[in-house]
Amino acid sequence: MIYLDHAATTKPDPEVTKTMLPFLGEQFLNPSAFYQPAVRVRVKIDDARREIADFIHADPRAIFFTSGGTEADNWALRIAVTAMAGKGRHIISSPVEHPAVRNSLQYLRKLGFEISLAEINREGLVDVDRLKDMIREDTILISVMHANNEIGTIEPIEEIGKLAADRGILFHTDAVQTFGHIPIDLRKCHIDLLSASAHKLYGPKGMGLLYVRPGLDGEKLLYGGGQERGMRAGTENVPGILGFARAVRLAEERMDQDSVREMKLRDAFEKKLLEEIPGVRINGCRQSRLPGIASVTFPEFDAETLLVLLDQKGICASAGSACSAGARTPSHVLAACGIPTEESRRTLRFSLGRETKEEDLNYTVKVLRSIIVGE
Ligand code: PLP
Repeated sequence: MIYLDHAATTKPDPEVTKTMLPFLGEQFLNPSAFYQPAVRVRVKIDDARREIADFIHADPRAIFFTSGGTEADNWALRIAVTAMAGKGRHIISSPVEHPAVRNSLQYLRKLGFEISLAEINREGLVDVDRLKDMIREDTILISVMHANNEIGTIEPIEEIGKLAADRGILFHTDAVQTFGHIPIDLRKCHIDLLSASAHKLYGPKGMGLLYVRPGLDGEKLLYGGGQERGMRAGTENVPGILGFARAVRLAEERMDQDSVREMKLRDAFEKKLLEEIPGVRINGCRQSRLPGIASVTFPEFDAETLLVLLDQKGICASAGSACSAGARTPSHVLAACGIPTEESRRTLRFSLGRETKEEDLNYTVKVLRSIIVGE
């Protein structure tokens, strides 16, 4: 298998699996229990929270573990609107958000909130000046993702965060695609709420976090026991939390070298595609893009046909995001970039990772060329 779908999910690192295994067996104890062996599990969770918080230079008390990015995004918006209750009902977001934010906003709209979407350019970059003009007296929240999952464009979150802070507006960013891939330093950026997910950085699925800036007082997600400081009740996913922290430690060690390597491989892959297949176009932002993502529009063949033919050769890629693949609706991200539906239907996403090799990419170009050019 040639796996070129790392933006959908990554294979847990063997170190992550090794860390998790004892907690799926012998060390099964409930971290809330009184006896010493359980207390040791509790200490491990506390250590994991501290390590993850350190990674983004946050206060450990600001990290709340969740079941993944979707839950964190949903909860972030709920916290924002409850914390700002009485101050307004206007929210600004971007048209390229993941469905976890997009559909949550849709729900808030039904509850009477007004949602405005910022303008983006053809590369998917939010226009910060225009966004500034959209701010109103009753704007309570700006939610703009850190990087897009389909085209990889990295948004100017430092600028947007500053803008929000200056106006007393909350700022949420969905960092699911960037956490563990590019640096995030919460001392340098004003962020009130940040979502992340472990399975995008070689950690376990069903595990994520929401960072909530200390002092921000929003609504609990789950009512029950006192776990997650009473904000998200339920016995902790111990293996998941420890696996997440292990994945973060690995990312800390490897992030720089991984991103340089992936960018080189990705750039060479795109160059070859452009040379070998006339009419290919690369989407996303040239200057500010996640190192491992290539969104490619082909001159002919719809994405589904290409995916099936690639699959027959053992190559795994995707059309847009995994979540919208299969839905057969054209990508809202490409549409927002002004790419006509007819072209977005011919667009594939290739996302590289730690195990991607140059020869795998060369083979993929060869297969695509033989499908499209016929040689
Ligand atoms: N946000 C973005 C940008 C994503 O790419 C994804 C997953 O594809 C999610 C949120 C959802 O994360 P999870 O799969 O952990 O629920």
